[in-house]
Amino acid sequence: MSRGTLYIVTAPSGCGKGTLLNGADKRHGLVYSVSATTRQPREGEIDGVHYYFKSREEFEEMIKADDFLEYAEYCGNLYGTPRSAVEKLISEGKNVLFEVEVEGAMKLIKKLPEAVTIFILPPSVKELKRRLLKRGTEPVEKVDQRVKRAKSEIPYAKYFDFVIVNDDLDDALKDFDACIIAAKRARKYHCKDIDNKILEVLEDE
Ligand code: 5GP
Repeated sequence: MSRGTLYIVTAPSGCGKGTLLNGADKRHGLVYSVSATTRQPREGEIDGVHYYFKSREEFEEMIKADDFLEYAEYCGNLYGTPRSAVEKLISEGKNVLFEVEVEGAMKLIKKLPEAVTIFILPPSVKELKRRLLKRGTEPVEKVDQRVKRAKSEIPYAKYFDFVIVNDDLDDALKDFDACIIAAKRARKYHCKDIDNKILEVLEDE
């Protein structure tokens, strides 16, 4: 079975990643990799849909059992990509989208070198802070923590295939969709498939 396209999407908190990704599964035939986290669920978040919500003990047990493809600590909480669920999706040839912070993204890029990588930048740190405060899902001290983290994440944009600046949401959405489509078309033949494709092209004289 041919492999699907894998997408790694990273954005500092408050870049509008949620809004950009919302509905991308249906528009592009993608499945989201559901991460595990020790963070408390936000209002409306469902266990097993948005995240697998775990206690720190449970998460640490999973680390010991080598259950994660990658994991990272982010602003006091642990976040990780469950290995077996992802391996199953990949083996089924699904197009899988991973939404992770930068440290996890850099680890995933090494493990999944064929993945298409997208980094979403805010127009400025000032605007990022304004959006986080407006969103109001985190107390002010946590917002400061997330802004500090964002400042350390932003320079990593240079390691990604595509960089989208989310200034105007409609434009960013168009850019995001264009990246997904272009990547799917141009990188249709991934590592394992490329040999077959080359043979197919060469043999058809
Ligand atoms: P939030 O608490 O806002 O849902 O997520 C905080 C950060 O954790 C976001 O940047 C998000 O992309 C990242 N994140 C979510 N799941 C994972 C994961 O499985 N691994 C890593 N490394 N980061 C994750």
